[in-house]
Amino acid sequence: MKVTPGSELYRKLPSVDEVMRTSEIAALVAEEGHAAVADAVRVVLGTLRNEITAGTLDRGRVELAVAGIGDAVRRELRRALMPSLRPVINATGVVLHTNLGRAPLSASAIDHIRETATAYSNLEFDIEQGERGKRDVHVNGLFKKLLGSTPSIGSEPGTAVDRSAGPELSDEVSTIVVNNNAAAVLLALNTIAEGGEVIVSRGELVEIGGSFRIPDVMTKSGAVLREVGTTNRTRVSDYERAINERTRLILRVHRSNFQITGFTEQPSLAQLVALGRKRNIPVMEDLGSGAFFDLRLLGISGEPGVPDSLRAGVDIVTYSGDKLLGGPQAGILSGRPEQIRRIRSNPMFRALRVDKLTYAALEATLLAYVKRDHKAIPAIAMMSMSASEVRHRAALLAGQIGSAVLTAEVIDGESVIGGGAAPSAVLPTALIAVTSKECSAEELAARLRTSDPPIIVRVEEDRVLLDLRTVFPEQDAAIAAALSAIGAE
Ligand SMILES: *Cc1c(COP(=O)(O)O)cnc(C)c1O
Repeated sequence: MKVTPGSELYRKLPSVDEVMRTSEIAALVAEEGHAAVADAVRVVLGTLRNEITAGTLDRGRVELAVAGIGDAVRRELRRALMPSLRPVINATGVVLHTNLGRAPLSASAIDHIRETATAYSNLEFDIEQGERGKRDVHVNGLFKKLLGSTPSIGSEPGTAVDRSAGPELSDEVSTIVVNNNAAAVLLALNTIAEGGEVIVSRGELVEIGGSFRIPDVMTKSGAVLREVGTTNRTRVSDYERAINERTRLILRVHRSNFQITGFTEQPSLAQLVALGRKRNIPVMEDLGSGAFFDLRLLGISGEPGVPDSLRAGVDIVTYSGDKLLGGPQAGILSGRPEQIRRIRSNPMFRALRVDKLTYAALEATLLAYVKRDHKAIPAIAMMSMSASEVRHRAALLAGQIGSAVLTAEVIDGESVIGGGAAPSAVLPTALIAVTSKECSAEELAARLRTSDPPIIVRVEEDRVLLDLRTVFPEQDAAIAAALSAIGAE
C-alpha cells in the first residue's frame, strides 16, 4: 500500500464527535443548537483536511490548527449564521435610498406586524358577520378618510388649477394594494387597456431605476403604446388627435427622477381630464411617489400629492407605499370605485396582492397620518429635520473623531429625497467631511462598510461625507466608534 507523505497528518485531526465533546464546543451547542455547531465543525475539519492534501500544512501547523479548532468553529458558526439581510447605517443623506430599503418603517408599523402576524388575524374574516371577508377592507377605509380630508398638497408647475376646489372625495374613492407600484401600473394597464391603445406623451416615457420602463410595461400589459408630442413639448391637441376607436386610456407619468427644462410644454392634468371626459376615456396618473402630507412645509414645491391628482379628476392614481408615504413596499391604486372594482376583479390581482405583513405596516402608517402624527414616520421625520438640527449633531460627532490620522470638519451641503420623488428637491443640510492621512476617501469608505453595522457614506472630491439627516440619533455613537477605531490604528 502506498502511503502518501501527509497521511499521518490526517490522523492528528480529531473526529467530529471528539470536537463536539470539548467543553468549549458544548457551550456553543447550548447557544446555537447541535445541528448548526456540528455543521461548523465539519466545515472546519474539512478545510484542514484539504489544506493537508494541498500540502500547505506541516506537522507544526497542524498541531497549532488543532489547538485552535474551538476559535475556528466559533468563527465559522458566526459566518454561517449571519443573516444576509441586515441593518446598515445610511449616512448618505438620501432619505428614500432604493438600494438601502427605501423608507424605514415606524415603530407602530413594526408593533402592528408583531401583534397581528405572530398570531392568527382577521385578514380575510368579517368578525361581525362570522364569515369570509376581504383583505382590502383593512386599509380602504383609512385611504378614504385620508383622501377626503387631506388638503391640497402641491400643484403642478406652470398651471393655475385650483385642485382644492374639487368635489368631496371620500365617497368617490376606492383603494386597493398590490406588491409595488410597477405591479399597480401593469395591473391597471392590463385591466383597462389590454388589446387597445394608451396615449402617453413622449416626454413621459420614463425609466425608473432598475428595469421599470413605461414602454416595456405597456407591452407586457397587452396594451399598445400610442406616443404623442415630442420629448420637450406636448399639447392637449396632440392627445386629442391621437384618439381613435381603439383608445382605452390617457396616461400621465410623473417625471420622478429627471426634469425637462427650457423650451417645454405639458398640458395640465385638468386639461387631460377635460379631454377624457369629453371623449369618454379614463385618465390615469402614475405618480410614483404619492405624498399624503404637504411637501411645501419642507420647502419642496411642484410635487403633486395623491389628493391633488384625484381632485383634479383623474380616474386612477398609482403610487408606491415606500416612497413619500413612508410605509412598506406596496403599489397603491386609488380612484373611482367602478374603475378600482374592475381592476380588483382582474385575475392578475390575485397574483400581485400583498400579504398580512404589508397590510399591518400600511395600516399603522396610515393611522399616523390620521392622527396627524407625521413625525412618527421615520422618512418624514428625517425630511423635516432642519439643517441646524443636523449641524448640531454633526459638530458633536466631528469633535469625537478627529485624530492624528483623521481630519473631520462640518460643512454645508444638501440631502436628497430620492426614491424617484421630487427629482430636483434637495434639503439644506450639514455634512461631516472626513479625510485620512493614510488612505484615500474610497478606501476609508470601504473600511466604514466593513464596520458592524456597515456604514454607507458618500465620497466627493476625495473626501468621505456623512449626512446625519438619514442616521438615527442612536446610531451616532456607532459612527463615532467606527471612525475612532480607524483613526487609532
Ligand atoms: C418609483 C416609480 C415606479 C415604480 O414603483 P415601485 O414601487 O418601485 O415598483 C413607477 N412609476 C413611477 C413614476 C415611479 O416614480
